[in-house]
Amino acid sequence: MAFLVKKYGGTSVGTIERIQHVAGSLKEAHEAGDQIVVVVSAMSGETNRLVGLAREVQPAVVDVRELDVLLATGEQVTIALLTMALKELGVEACSYTGAQIKILTDDSHSKARIISIDTDRIMDDINAGKIVVVAGFQGVDEKGNITTLGRGGSDTSAVALGAALKCDECQIFTDVDGVYTTDPRVESRARRLERITFEEMLEMASLGSKVLQIRAVEFAGKYNVPLRVLSSFKPGEGTLITYDDEENSMEQALVSGIAFNRDEAQVTVTGVADQPGTAFAILGPISDLNIEVDMIIQNIGADETTDFTFTVHRDEYSRVIDFLQSRQKELGAASITGNDRIAKLSIVGVGMRSHAGIASRMFRSLSDSGINMRLITTSEIKISVVIDEKYLELGVRALHEEFELAAP
Ligand code: ASP
Ligand code: MG
Repeated sequence: MAFLVKKYGGTSVGTIERIQHVAGSLKEAHEAGDQIVVVVSAMSGETNRLVGLAREVQPAVVDVRELDVLLATGEQVTIALLTMALKELGVEACSYTGAQIKILTDDSHSKARIISIDTDRIMDDINAGKIVVVAGFQGVDEKGNITTLGRGGSDTSAVALGAALKCDECQIFTDVDGVYTTDPRVESRARRLERITFEEMLEMASLGSKVLQIRAVEFAGKYNVPLRVLSSFKPGEGTLITYDDEENSMEQALVSGIAFNRDEAQVTVTGVADQPGTAFAILGPISDLNIEVDMIIQNIGADETTDFTFTVHRDEYSRVIDFLQSRQKELGAASITGNDRIAKLSIVGVGMRSHAGIASRMFRSLSDSGINMRLITTSEIKISVVIDEKYLELGVRALHEEFELAAP
């Protein structure tokens, strides 16, 4: 018997049949003795449909308060339908919107942060033997306005409930059956990981793995809520995400996974003065434009000048190039160039902390495949390189092989 928060995403509740299927699985777990709080997303496509409706009415600037009122309806539909489906199966259940159980957030509409959750009402139902069904993605601010947590925010709702209720595990049911060593669409021999640490998962998520929302993983790590990713269609153990402590002692792979991201573009500013203030002169205005910079590399200076390279989201590429070119004189730059056909390829693993030589294995493997690395950055548990986009798949497979990640 366990106390579980189970979250089902949009595809898992995308049709009436699927909702009934979820109700069936919940009934089984409930009969086996588990105490269950369910968090659901809107039916797949519904949030996008609602955003579209809002744009039709307000093409220029959307009123964020009203948009949240609108978007929160998506999840209100699924909590009611799932609860009905449970009752049809003879299971006692009750649905709640975010406001009803006071998922208190700040007032930043469309990207609100959860402050607290009132667990009394939920616990009363749980103690009465009911399944509690909660709308993901939404909350309420101090003044009673409906808020939403940002796209994909139901994962965060589930983890926050898991933390507030001190549940044994927060299970995220989705359309994949776990976290894989890499994307199986690129490397068919990718293997499902039984376990991964919060840290590794966080790196994987921020480096491009789309299995879990980054914020949800951060939250789970901060409050130590064990997270499990599972398929809602295929039975299995999924992947457990926890701390790497003695208790969960993981057999430590050197590298746990390979992440990649095609969304980046590289910008290079050459021949700028090698003196204090140069990086700020280039990157300050970029950040003022609200453009996020990812990797930043400055060359060693020669002849009192230096070169700067950084990466931005591919969608921002032309904006950044145009902006810097318009300021080339002011910056005293010899040239401003870039490339938006690049990809970032990364290896991630807590095992890197205690083993030397991983970087050189990575570099040798890529060079054996004839792949040129344009940029390299490292942190304690990851190494990222930027390569030409056209070699990405080749690179993923080479590294997967090099670090023996395929199924034995
Ligand atoms: N329904 C919301 C979205 O599509 C929240 C979620 O699915 O997690 O972004
Ligand atoms: Mg979703």
